[in-house]
Parts: sequence; structure tokens; C-alpha cells
Amino acid sequence: MTRSTQAIGIFGGTFDPVHYGHLRAALEAMERLQLQDFRLLPAGTPPHRAGTFASADHRLAMLKLALSRYPELQVDDREVRREGSSYMVDTLGEIRREEGEAPILMMIGQDAANVLDQWYDWHKLFDLAHLVIMRRPESKHIYSGALFEQVQPRLVNDPDQLRKTPAGLILPLEVTQLAISSTEIRRQIHAGLSPRFLLPDSVIEYILEHRFY
Ligand code: ATP
Repeated sequence: MTRSTQAIGIFGGTFDPVHYGHLRAALEAMERLQLQDFRLLPAGTPPHRAGTFASADHRLAMLKLALSRYPELQVDDREVRREGSSYMVDTLGEIRREEGEAPILMMIGQDAANVLDQWYDWHKLFDLAHLVIMRRPESKHIYSGALFEQVQPRLVNDPDQLRKTPAGLILPLEVTQLAISSTEIRRQIHAGLSPRFLLPDSVIEYILEHRFY
């Protein structure tokens, strides 16, 4: 088992497909939090969605293409390799077992944070990782009762605090959120429009070659 105390950033998503909105937010979070180990982690079989459009293998391949020239952003393919539903709590548990007491920082968007109490075993997430809520200055947080009770006492403003403990704190972080979504990219491709400049050319070429949208 590897043991380290170097903080680890985890940016999960379906990445169906990955686009510059994800990549820009990931880069800014990595730099602002001074993380040497930052991983984009594609969901294998997302439990909370009807299904993905591209298979897990294709989504992983697109992510690798997008990051091929940026080794500071890594890809963690464990959910794609694992059979069955992918629950974040299981994924973080696995990373925790590998990394010992290292701080684990899980990035999520404000929209996802607002409905965190719909995630499987969501209470346990705070035992396993810190949460970094990537938000726009104007984005709203609307936490339901039980979620509010969990979130409020855990909130911190200083990223350095996340380095001092392995898990359990919540840091709101303002990052650029480009108005790009995977849904809109799929819609444009489906309509025969060009998605150029919304995502890397290498990913566009892969999509056109395999034609899964
Ligand atoms: P879809 O349109 O299919 O819902 P998406 O573009 O929202 O997809 P996901 O893979 O679901 O992409 O998102 C993964 C993570 O990236 C989430 O935490 C989400 O909040 C964040 N994210 C998505 N789009 C952007 C964006 N444009 N800027 C910053 N973060 C984003």
C-alpha cells in the first residue's frame, strides 16, 4: 500500500464528452489549491443517471486524448475498470485505503453540491474526503435541512486548512465556469453543427471517427 501525506485532488464527472469547461475548472482548482496530484476521474456506470451516451471506454479515451499534452492533470480510470455501479463513496474509500492519511479533496460543482444528499451514502463522504465546491461568484447554494446541518459546521475559507486533516471540511472555491456543457455539445453534433472551440480538436476527431453521439 502506498502511504503519502501529499494532498490529492479528485475531479469526477461523466465527461460525455470532456470539454474546456471541465478542463479550465480543473486547471484553476489544481493551481489555486497547489495540488501536485490532481486526477480527473470518469464515472464508470453513473448510478444517478439514466445512462451515458458514450461508453465508459470511449469517455476514458476522450479524456486521455484531451490531457495527453498536460501531464500535470492525470486520469484515474478505476471506475471504468470496476464492474457494476460506481458510487463515489466506494471510489473514495478505495483511494483512502491506498493513500493512508493524505488529504483527499473532491471537487464538485455548486449544482452537484446542492443535491449531494441524493448521493448514495452521502454522510460517509465527509469521513473520506474534503469537498471543494467549485462555484461562480453569483452561484447560489440551496442546501436542504439535513444537508445544511452537515455543510454549515464544515465550511472553511482557507485552502491551507484542507492540508492539515485528511477529510471532513468544505471549501467553496471560485473558478471560471465557461458556459459549455456536454449536453449542448452532444446536441450540436447530433444536429450536424460544429462543436469546434468548445473542446479539444483531438476529442472532436475521436467523436467523428467513432460516431457515438
Ligand atoms: P452534462 O451536460 O451531460 O450534464 P456536464 O457538462 O455538466 O455534463 P459532467 O461530466 O456532468 O459535465 O460534469 C463533471 C463536473 O464538472 C461537475 O462537477 C460539474 O459541476 C463540472 N462542470 C461541468 N461543466 C462545467 C463548466 N462549464 N465549467 C466548470 N465546471 C463544469
